[in-house]
Amino acid sequence: MPSITRQFWIALLLLVSAASAGATEAAIRSLLDRAEAAQRDDTEAARSLALEALGKLDAAPDADLELRARAVLCDALIETDAAGAERQLAAGRAALRTASNRGLEADLLNCEGELRSIAGDSETALRLFERSLAIAERQDRPEAAAEALLRRGELRSRNGDLVNAMGDLRRSLLLFDSAGMPLAAGDALNSIANLYSRLGDDREAASSYENLLRRLDPDKSTRDYAVIVHNLGRVHENAGNWAEAKREFELALELSRRAGNGRIVGYSLRGLSAVRLAAHQPAAALDLLDEAAAQLRKSPDNWLESQILLQRGLVLQALHRLPEALTALEAATVELEKSGALYPRAAAHVARAEIHAELGQWQQAYENTTRAKALTESVLRSQIDQRYAILKVEHDTASREHENVLLVRERTAIEKSLQQERRANRFKLVAIVLTGILAATLATILMRLRRSAARMRQLAMTDELTGLPNRRAVLERLERTLAKPSDKPCSVLIADLDHFKLINDGWGHLVGDEVLKALALLLRTSVREPMVIGRLGGEEFLVVLPETGLHAAHQVAERIRLQVAGLDTAGLCDRRQLTVSLGVAVGMPGRCHASELLREADAALYAAKSAGRNRVHPTPAATLQTVPLR
Ligand code: GH3
Ligand code: MG
Ligand code: MG
Repeated sequence: MPSITRQFWIALLLLVSAASAGATEAAIRSLLDRAEAAQRDDTEAARSLALEALGKLDAAPDADLELRARAVLCDALIETDAAGAERQLAAGRAALRTASNRGLEADLLNCEGELRSIAGDSETALRLFERSLAIAERQDRPEAAAEALLRRGELRSRNGDLVNAMGDLRRSLLLFDSAGMPLAAGDALNSIANLYSRLGDDREAASSYENLLRRLDPDKSTRDYAVIVHNLGRVHENAGNWAEAKREFELALELSRRAGNGRIVGYSLRGLSAVRLAAHQPAAALDLLDEAAAQLRKSPDNWLESQILLQRGLVLQALHRLPEALTALEAATVELEKSGALYPRAAAHVARAEIHAELGQWQQAYENTTRAKALTESVLRSQIDQRYAILKVEHDTASREHENVLLVRERTAIEKSLQQERRANRFKLVAIVLTGILAATLATILMRLRRSAARMRQLAMTDELTGLPNRRAVLERLERTLAKPSDKPCSVLIADLDHFKLINDGWGHLVGDEVLKALALLLRTSVREPMVIGRLGGEEFLVVLPETGLHAAHQVAERIRLQVAGLDTAGLCDRRQLTVSLGVAVGMPGRCHASELLREADAALYAAKSAGRNRVHPTPAATLQTVPLR
């Protein structure tokens, strides 16, 4: 069915061309979606996807999409290539000038804040997160707001501003949960656990980390898993549970190496160094610190640097390399002061006091002891204060959390119904196209059926040899004419070839057939509408003459007789003269039957044959009386 196939291809072509509209933009969007999804888990994948998107954007520039790509690249480079991240920031800011979605600026600000935070510039970082949060909230970008809150909360937590940090982190957790971003929500939970650790609540911290680890798959979220395992190790380290600390730091080291994350490798090595020192193996501890420092050079991190310096001071003290230990501890103090972390600062001053005492430098020993005492007291005081304050934050957030659960439910329901609507629309489109194709196919089939039915009917009504209407067709026509009452008569002629058998016998059936065809052609041209001719069978033909009286019918019959007699059959057989005898009958429509009329015409034909053939014979006189002559 070639026409059906063509309709199908046209429909398909329409569908394909509709779908390919805006294909490039959709491809870039899909790359960026994938890059953003990979950001937490697979920095390298995120980077290469964003680069691919940028490559495509060269051909089809779009400021909004470029901005998204730059933000992903900036984030991906933070830990390994600060200068590269800065370049992405600059390019992102340039794209911002023509971007239509102002909310995207929040992503740039988040990355910039993180860069400043890692460089130790807490103040600027806090300001940038604040701005990002304001923009994200104004432009209704809850996931960017959650990110700003997470980063600011983490920074505040590290700086000892635990109450505000807890507020930020709880809000961030809520937003990530309601946006359906479990991995990011995991990050917020991790920071909350860190916060408990800083509060000195080791039990709460350890159980939070363990809780988080149960939610993660180490094979899929290797980096996140490594971070949390490290933090759990850190809690055990603080509590002096060295066997547990060792186990967790070793696992964190293995996982972070597998994830290719240098910073966490550095943190894990520092942890293992602390374990060695506790086991009285300072030389091994120092080797581990050198390794950690080498990692630090590859991925600079202000906080890690201060941790390594502090640990180095403690290790060198254990090795009795006192002046070097002092240098390291002093440097650690400077770094730690930048971050505002109280507890490690106290530890550094305690160690410095001990070394100065050992060196007989009593004045400095005294000063450091005083400093350490003040810091420890302040840590304890603030821990107690903050624990109360945090209890309040947790209470507030808990009630907000309840409201939020309702909100999330509502949003999920709306999202679900929207999805269903979108799916229904897609189905509708497919159904419309399929219905169209089906309708076209059915129409074609129907047309073909009609055509073939008409053809069959025609075949059933046509005489195969002569192409004239066959017996059934011509009789049907006669019956129809007679069925409709009328005051005008209807005549019939039966024409029969004379001595046709002789032709068959003399020249064969094939020649006989040719003679019949030649006769049919003659009759067809001589009998015009509304007269109808058909082959009754053999060499007999019937002519129906509606609205024709006996006289006129007789004239027609005579004309036919003469024409047949004049037919040249020399090309067929040498029987020079072909003749025909005709019987004529006439009846009134509505008053006589076809069979009667045929019988009378046949009787007239018989009479013509008997009278010597090649002549026309009318109906016997008895019948004629009832029929008016015209
Ligand atoms: P008459 O003048 O009395 O009509 O003599 P006739 O020979 O024409 O009539 P008859 O009824 O004796 O013979 C008719 C012959 O026509 C007999 C039959 O074999 C032949 N015939 C019938 N149909 C066909 C046909 O389709 N083709 C051929 N070639 N012959 C046919
Ligand atoms: Mg006959
Ligand atoms: Mg005959």
